[in-house]
Amino acid sequence: MKMMRAAVVEKPKSVVVKGIPVPEINENEVLIKVQYTGICGSDQSIYQGKYVPEYLPLVSGHEFSGDVVETGKNVTNVKEGDRVIADINISCGTCFYCRNGWKLLCPEHRQLGIHTNGSFAEYVKAPMQNVLKLHKNLDYLTGSFVEPLSCVMHAVKAMDTRIASSVVVIGCRLGLLHASAALLKGAAPVILIGHNEKRLRVAKEMGVDEVINSHEVEDPVARVIELTEGRGADNVIESVGQPELYEMAFRMIRPGGKVTAFGVAAADAVMQLKPLDFIINEQNLAGSKAGEGNDYLDAMQLLAYKRIDVKKMFSMVVPLEEYESALLELKENRDLIKVFVSPQIDKRIVY
Ligand SMILES: [Zn+2]
Ligand SMILES: [Zn+2]
Repeated sequence: MKMMRAAVVEKPKSVVVKGIPVPEINENEVLIKVQYTGICGSDQSIYQGKYVPEYLPLVSGHEFSGDVVETGKNVTNVKEGDRVIADINISCGTCFYCRNGWKLLCPEHRQLGIHTNGSFAEYVKAPMQNVLKLHKNLDYLTGSFVEPLSCVMHAVKAMDTRIASSVVVIGCRLGLLHASAALLKGAAPVILIGHNEKRLRVAKEMGVDEVINSHEVEDPVARVIELTEGRGADNVIESVGQPELYEMAFRMIRPGGKVTAFGVAAADAVMQLKPLDFIINEQNLAGSKAGEGNDYLDAMQLLAYKRIDVKKMFSMVVPLEEYESALLELKENRDLIKVFVSPQIDKRIVY
C-alpha cells in the first residue's frame, strides 16, 4: 500500500501529521497530487470542534490546486499531468433539488475536505465531474483561490446588484472579495465595515470607496445612512456570521433593499427582526451557501484575466508540518489574511 503524509485532525484541537494510505480511486475518480491548499474559516471551525465533529478523524482542506497523477478508466475530461482544481460539492444527482439544478440544497449534499478527506495531504481524490482544468493564465497558488472566489460568485448572483447601486460589505476576510466583486459589477459606492487596520488598508488598495472601522466609528448604521443620501444601502452582505451583525445589516438597507446572508453563524444562533419591516419596507433576504457549477468557471475566468487582484490578500505559505501552528497563528494574528499550506515545501514563504 502506497503511503503519504497528511495532516489529520484526530480530535478537536489536535492535528497529527502522519503517514496514511494514498486514497484509492475507482473507475470514475481522479487522483491529484496537491500543490497548495488555502486555509478556510471552516478548516478552523473543524479544528476547533465547532463544525462537523462527527466526521473526525478527518483530513480537511478544500481550497486546492494540483496535478493529476492517476485517472480511473472511465475518466475522459482530464489526463495525467493536467493542472487542476476541483468543485468540492458532491450531490446525489437524482433528487428534486438536483433535478432543478439546486445541487447545494440536495439532502445528500457533501463537500470534499469537509465531509470526506481533503487536501491537507500529499494526495487527494475527487470524482471526475468535479475536476476542472486550471486556466493556462493561472499559477497553482492563485488556482487554489478559485474555490473561495466561487463562493463569492454564488453570493454575487444571489445579491444581483444593479450598476450604480450601493453595496455595504460587513467583514473583511472574504468580505474583501465581495467588495471587489461589487466594484466589478459597477456598484457605487462600495462600503466595507471591519476593524482590522491592515485589512481595511488592503480594501482601500483594492478600490473600495469607503471603509468603516467599527472600533472607531460609534454608529456604523448612521455612517452608512449618511453615505447613501440618507436612504440606507441598496444591498448589504453579511460576511462574518454573527446575529448582531445580521440585525445591523437590516438596519442599514433602504426600503426595498436586500441583505445577502453569507457569514456562517453558529448552528444555534438566533436573530431578531421585525416582520412588519418586510411588509412596510418590502425588504429582502437572499441566502448563499457555497460556490458550485458555473460559479467555479466564473471565478477562474475573473482570476485568469486579473479582474480581481487577490495577490494582495496572500499572507504566507507554510509546509504541511506547520498546518496546526498556522491555524493558531490565524486565530491570534488578525493581520494574516490568506494562508496556504503546501506539502511540497519545507520552509514557510511569507509575502
Ligand atoms: Zn472554504
Ligand atoms: Zn440530490
